[in-house]
Amino acid sequence: MKHILIFNLVAILFVACTNMKTETAKDQNAELIFPKGNKVTNNNFTGTAWVQMFVSPDSIYDASIGNVTFEPNARTNWHKHPGGQILLVTEGKGFYQEKGKPAQHIQKGDIVKIPPGVEHWHGASSSNGLTHIAISPNIDKGNVEWLQPVTDEEYVEVNKN
Ligand code: MN
Repeated sequence: MKHILIFNLVAILFVACTNMKTETAKDQNAELIFPKGNKVTNNNFTGTAWVQMFVSPDSIYDASIGNVTFEPNARTNWHKHPGGQILLVTEGKGFYQEKGKPAQHIQKGDIVKIPPGVEHWHGASSSNGLTHIAISPNIDKGNVEWLQPVTDEEYVEVNKN
């Protein structure tokens, strides 16, 4: 009788723990407003990043809109947008830096307006991931121009501040 009781107790605890795990995974997915999309495999990023495109430019909407998720340490290469870009930060912490200027800390809730033709990069910090929606308008002025990677030296420097 005692053994059955203990067995049942262990069984109940096991089921409870398994359910807790399932709930946690579900909650994490539920917190995502937009899907992470696909892992970036090109050489325009350093580290692990994910991109989900929402809008591709067409004859009515002259804009490219997508969601970018950076894991800690991940960042774009230096690059320029001939038509400018707006970032809406939806999660995490990271950096935005224009060439020749100090990096700016950016975090959830921040909006970054990037002027046309200005060389810059954006990405996560070394200890936090970062997710932003990237709106690139005026695609008629040209597509993104990719440049050199943000070196580990450059990246370590901004993470000190
Ligand atoms: Mn950009």
